[in-house]
Amino acid sequence: MTLGRRKLLAALATVPAALALGGARKEPKPKDPPEPRKSRKRKGAKAPQSHVDVAVVGAGALGAWTAWHLVRQGKSVRLFDAYGAGNGRAASNLPSMMLDPVQGGDALYASLVSDSYAAWQRLSDTASLPILTACQALTTLTATDSIAAARDVDRESGDKLKNRFTQIAWHPGEAALVAEKAAMLAGRRGVLETLLDGQIEPEAVVMPAPLRDKRSDLYVLPDGGTAGSIVYACGAWLTELFPQLLTPQRLSAVRHNVFHFGPGQGDLQYRPPAMPAFVDRAYGFTLLPDIEGEGVRCWRSAGDASVDPDSFDRRADERALTDVRLWLAGRLPRIGTAPIVASAAVHDCRTVTGDLLLDRLPEHPRAWVVGGAAGRAFSLAPAIGARVAAHVADASRPLEPRWALARLTGGAV
Ligand SMILES: Cc1cc2nc3c(=O)[nH]c(=O)nc-3n(C[C@H](O)[C@H](O)[C@H](O)COP(=O)(O)OP(=O)(O)OC[C@H]3O[C@@H](n4cnc5c(N)ncnc54)[C@H](O)[C@@H]3O)c2cc1C
Repeated sequence: MTLGRRKLLAALATVPAALALGGARKEPKPKDPPEPRKSRKRKGAKAPQSHVDVAVVGAGALGAWTAWHLVRQGKSVRLFDAYGAGNGRAASNLPSMMLDPVQGGDALYASLVSDSYAAWQRLSDTASLPILTACQALTTLTATDSIAAARDVDRESGDKLKNRFTQIAWHPGEAALVAEKAAMLAGRRGVLETLLDGQIEPEAVVMPAPLRDKRSDLYVLPDGGTAGSIVYACGAWLTELFPQLLTPQRLSAVRHNVFHFGPGQGDLQYRPPAMPAFVDRAYGFTLLPDIEGEGVRCWRSAGDASVDPDSFDRRADERALTDVRLWLAGRLPRIGTAPIVASAAVHDCRTVTGDLLLDRLPEHPRAWVVGGAAGRAFSLAPAIGARVAAHVADASRPLEPRWALARLTGGAV
């Protein structure tokens, strides 16, 4: 039986248009809305092991990465921090830090950049929120600067850069080193993620100077536990722990005033990739791009006073703000008039040589001390932590002479 033309048209009219045209398109099934995250019961702290291979003191960036590498070596580790990991007094607690391949032209520190970059990148790729944000870094050069450009760093004239970085005012005849592969790192969150990744549970304990039981040749911990080796990564508190050895003249907490200037709504020119990290060597200021809406962070690179890291007042002071605004007016005038969204006085740990300290404590073949390297220890902590862990594993490994305790004490240890 054949359908008449009229009947056929009437039948087709009841079929949805898409089918009638031969395109049997499947309507996408509406997606289920995302489920809220499942509640994850936090486990109570495990009872500490009575004996561990290594006790690490200080859960800032250096202590966290040292512990992380030791755990990766298969060592049992306990990590102690007097105020707890990610505490508000630690130097590692800043919201963001720069990983700068230029390292002021110092080849020793530049050699630690690529391993550190890879470690932070891996951590960032596996964390719930980013830890590393790629950016460029510019370092202006003074007329007398003879900094050697490191790998992947180019020297460019201000004339060329002014078209690329229009936020910055370039002076005639100026030049800068441009690192394409720099990064901004999350400070506090970076430390906490390192510990989570290493499954290390820090204990809030104030540790004293090392106490060795001569009979067992082990270090005795405050709760009666023991450790085969001990690493002090206590930043500026090393002076408090070892007052005779690390006098304030040799190692100190240096105060900086930091100001965050808030760009306007939707303004992306102060965020990576448009905005680089900017080290203005000629004027002694550093400016970091806006990450996560924290504002553009700016401070004078030379600290203004030595302080006690336990008790100094962490409010920024007005005089320092005047200096920063004056510099911004000449260099980044548009952000110089922006409101301040955060400010603080913070400290860094500086040795008299400006170098890192990584050595054994005198008369303690298995007690180590690490700290200093002001302005760069956070970003290079993965590579420095690997070195510390390697020394702990193999005490005969040669020490870096520039990081020796004797360089601070003039040999008197
Ligand atoms: C303004 C400013 C900008 C900076 N910018 C950068 C940057 O861009 N890039 C970069 O790489 N670095 C930067 N730094 C430097 C960086 O912040 C520090 O070098 C680094 O965070 C130091 O880490 P740390 O682990 O040595 O010390 P800290 O983070 O200070 O940690 C030491 C820890 O030891 C604990 N502790 C002390 N005594 C004891 C004890 N007796 N028992 C138990 N625990 C103890 C403390 O509570 C503390 O948590 C900057 C510093 C400043 C001030």
